[in-house]
Formats: sequence, structure tokens, C-alpha cells
Amino acid sequence: MARFQTHAVDNQPPEFAPRDLWRDDIALREALAREGGDAHGGRVARYGALAGGELYALSFDAHRDRPRLRTHDRFGHRIDTVEFHPNYHRIMQTAIGNGVAGLSWADDAPGAHVARAALCYLHNQAEPGTSCPLTMTHAAVPVLQQSPVLGEWADKIAACCYDPRDLAIGDKPGVTLGMGMTEKQGGSDVRANTTVATPLGGGDDEYALVGHKWFFSAPMSDGFLVLAQAPAGLTCFLLPRRLPGGAKNAFALMRLKDKLGDWSNASGEVEFMDARAWRVGDEGRGIATILQMVMLTRLDCMLGSAAQMRMALAQALHHATQRVAFGKRLVDQPLMRNVLADLAIESEAALALSMRVARAVDASPRDPREAAFARIATAIGKYWICKRAPAFVNEAQECLGGAGYIEESILPRLYRQAPLNSIWEGSGNIQCLDVLRALARESSAADAVRTELASAAGLDERYDAAVASLEASLRGSVEEAGARWLVERLALALQAAVLQRARSPLAGAFCRSRFGGAHGLAFGTLPTSLDHGLPIERAWIE
Ligand SMILES: Cc1cc2nc3c(=O)[nH]c(=O)nc-3n(C[C@H](O)[C@H](O)[C@H](O)COP(=O)(O)OP(=O)(O)OC[C@H]3O[C@@H](n4cnc5c(N)ncnc54)[C@H](O)[C@@H]3O)c2cc1C
Repeated sequence: MARFQTHAVDNQPPEFAPRDLWRDDIALREALAREGGDAHGGRVARYGALAGGELYALSFDAHRDRPRLRTHDRFGHRIDTVEFHPNYHRIMQTAIGNGVAGLSWADDAPGAHVARAALCYLHNQAEPGTSCPLTMTHAAVPVLQQSPVLGEWADKIAACCYDPRDLAIGDKPGVTLGMGMTEKQGGSDVRANTTVATPLGGGDDEYALVGHKWFFSAPMSDGFLVLAQAPAGLTCFLLPRRLPGGAKNAFALMRLKDKLGDWSNASGEVEFMDARAWRVGDEGRGIATILQMVMLTRLDCMLGSAAQMRMALAQALHHATQRVAFGKRLVDQPLMRNVLADLAIESEAALALSMRVARAVDASPRDPREAAFARIATAIGKYWICKRAPAFVNEAQECLGGAGYIEESILPRLYRQAPLNSIWEGSGNIQCLDVLRALARESSAADAVRTELASAAGLDERYDAAVASLEASLRGSVEEAGARWLVERLALALQAAVLQRARSPLAGAFCRSRFGGAHGLAFGTLPTSLDHGLPIERAWIE
């Protein structure tokens, strides 16, 4: 055979993984400490090694071998079960066992939300599909805590124990949760929900639900927080998969969605046929009740998109530091350096704002100003960071040339995943309109943004000018059609504020390129006079 060797394999980078995603990420290590999550530093560090090692390796098959719906067993009984690749369960077990869904509720000392956000960021880099059930499980807790009879559910999320068995929750040490709001006739406008909830009487807040949900992710969850029309209006309910005695609840999975990406995660369509559900919050207060869950899922969209950017950047840097073209490593070619540096700046800014919002969420119960900041900054950050991810991932793919288009790199998977965070949990326009609503109706929201922006005043004149130009919009009303323009500028200003206050070495380059028109519409258009080496060296430990 050796005689027939046609060529030597040369100039190809080594495998990307196993890789310690915590050790490699200076910006994450700094952000965890800065935002108050340091008490859990050891746990987060261990998860970084797991995510870049075992989970990264398991993720390929969990994604490729998509979940399958089994509506009936061999005897014709309805079972409404989804079968996953075994790696899906191993990934879920590792994630839940390490606190990706429960740490915030397992430890009520300050900083737990921040550490959980870091875990979520690391997890999303390896396997974003499983992040959907993890996020919904985490985010359900503040809603469950509003009901005096559903405390057991919240406790079983805080237990950080994955149990995929299809049993009533009394027989399980840990549970997962899903969420059902979107119906065929309307997703953004949930007030148009037609599912009907009829009280069963008896004083225990039990209802029977008839209707459907058009998108119903993680349908193997133990319970679902759903919206339905009760006699006094749209109301939030907990709908369990199994009833307390163990019987199957009366809902049917009609089919699974054939999705662009997010393949390891199952998303279904469901019909409720007098399904039993327990009311959470008052009748007619469904949107207000479920809002706390939605805020937390939106924070995870920010973290998830920031994580996709970080993984895409890491792949690009890994390749560019090993691959030679025209006599030089790609990372030493001036134009490639501009692209990589620009991506590194964007990635760090996305992480910095996400972790700042995680701190605000953490502090919310103790500090009304932080609660006001979390409320508006989540909508601002969700819009902008999720909007940036698809273009970012595509640019990182291009750094690998043809290899970035091939499935064995993780990049095609990230590319298919990237648009999703922008679409679900309130699509882009809905976030922007939410920002306008908060500015118009809640004076504390505008004040919280103003305070945050003022905390970095005087450090960069381009930043100061950008903030000054925003003041009129914070004070007055903005036309709906102008909402994206405003929210984009608010997001850039908040990112700049966090980077500057953190004394990030990239803060100056961020301000210089993101304010004042010194940057084009594509990545790789930083001013040539900027030091392109600094962001690259900070983002990548060779
Ligand atoms: C893979 C996947 C999984 C999902 N899983 C779940 C789930 O588990 N549970 C769940 O409840 N939902 C789920 N969803 C649904 C998702 O949250 C909705 O698709 C999303 O909220 C948008 O709703 P819609 O599809 O009805 O679009 P529409 O509400 O029809 O909106 C279409 C577009 O119009 C824009 N728009 C709407 N109103 C306005 C306005 N007033 N002004 C300007 N623009 C506007 C929106 O921003 C959007 O871009 C999932 C979606 C996907 C893709």
C-alpha cells in the first residue's frame, strides 16, 4: 500500500477537541469574577473541561440521530413518546447533575444565577439543542413558586437530578419542564390563544384543557407551563405529563417539527383532550404570571447566542493558527487578522452584556434598580446578540474555507442553530416593541439604562457622544417603525459600558469601531490603524 500512497496529508490542523473551554476563555473567567459568581468558580471550571471534552464528543451523534416520535406501542395503545439517541440522555444527565438547570435554585446565596449563566454559556458551546429543555426547566421555577401547591416541582428542579423515566413526579427525584404558548393562529400575540380551560370545581385549582399548541418543545418533559383561556381570561397552568396516580394525561403528540437545525431537541405539535392542569396565578393574569419564565428564557437566548459565537470564533482561531496559505499562517495574514479581531471583539461584547444581565437577575430580589435593569436589558440584549449570531457564525465558517462547510466541524450545526434564538421567545420585532413599551410605561426602566450608561461616562469620547445622542429617545416617545434603530444603539452602548467598566483591553477598539461610522456592515472592517493582534491574543491561547 505504501507504494501507492498518492500524497502526504499536510497543512491540516489537528482535532479541535478535547479542549478546556474554561481555561481557554479569559473573558469568561473575568466575567464570572466581575459579576459575582466566583464562589462557584471550581464547579464552572470543571464544567468547562467537560463541555469541551466529553460533551463535545457526545454531541455529534445526539444531533445527527434525530429524535423519533412513537405515537403508539405495538398493541395499539397511545404512548406519545419521543425516543432520543442515548447520547442525548448522557448530555442531559451531565448538564442537570452539574447544575445547568438548577444551580440558581439550589443555592440562594448571591452569585448562583451568575454561575449558572456561565454553565449555560459553556453548555451551549458544546450542545445547543439540549439547552432548550435545560433552559425551560431552569426558567419555570419562579412561576411554579407562585403556586402554593406546586412547591414539589420547584424542589425537584433544585435537586439537580436527571430522571428521564415517564412516571408521575411523586416517583421521580428530578423533573424537567416545558412551555406551551404558541398556537396556530398566533405566537407573538398569545392573547389570541383559543385553548379553553374549564374549572373542575372542588377548590384545588384543577382545570380541564381542550385545544392545541403549534410549537411544543421538549415534549418528554414531566410538566409544561401553558396558557389557556379560563372563564376570566388568559391564564397560566401547569400541565403534567402523568397525573398524580401515574395515568397518562389526556394529550396527544401529533407530529414532530422538521426543523432547520436544533436537531437533538424534539419540538412537537400537541392536542389537549380534556387534559388536566393546575392553575398558577389568578385567572386572566396568564401573561403576567408566565413573564418571569419568559425573562429567564430570554437571558438564556443571549447566553446561547454568545456561546455559539464563542465556539465559532474558537474554531476559526484554532484553524487560522495552524493553516498556512501563500507562505504564512492565516492568522498572520493582515486581512484575516482584521476578520478574526473583529469577531473576537463582537464575541467578548456579547458575553460581557449577557453576564451583566445575569448579575442583574441574580440581584433582582434584593435590589429594585437591578430588577428594572434586568427587565429592559434582557429585551435589548436578546434582540441584538441573537441577531448578530447567524452572520457571525457564517463569517467564522468562512475562516475555515471549505472545511467550515463540512459537518465534521461543528460549524454547519452552529450555523443551522444560530437563527433560532432570534425567532423563539419573542422574535426580533417583539423584543424591540417591548423595549419601547418599557421606556414609555416604566420610568424605572429608562432610569436603569441611564444609570448603567452613566457608570462608564468620561472614559471614551466616542462613547460619550453616542450616549448623549440616545438621551432624547430615553426621554421622549419613539415611533414603532424606529424601534430597531433605537434598540441596536442601546445595545451597543450597553456593551460598551460593560466593557469599559470592566477595563477590558478590547473596550477602546469596541468604541472606536462601533461608534462614529468607522466600521462597515461586514465583519473584518475594523480601522487598519487598530491593533488587530490584541483581540486575537486575548481570545486564543495557542
Ligand atoms: C424550533 C422552535 C421551537 C419552538 N418551541 C416552542 C415552545 O416550546 N413553546 C412555545 O410556546 N413556542 C415555541 N416556539 C414558537 C416561537 O416562540 C414562535 O414561533 C415565535 O414566538 C413567533 O411566533 P409565530 O411563529 O406565531 O410568528 P408571528 O407571531 O406570526 O410573527 C411573525 C413575525 O412577525 C413579527 N411581528 C409580530 N407582531 C408584530 C408587530 N406588532 N409589529 C412588527 N412585527 C411583528 C414577529 O417578530 C415575527 O418576526 C418554537 C419555535 C421554533 C422555531
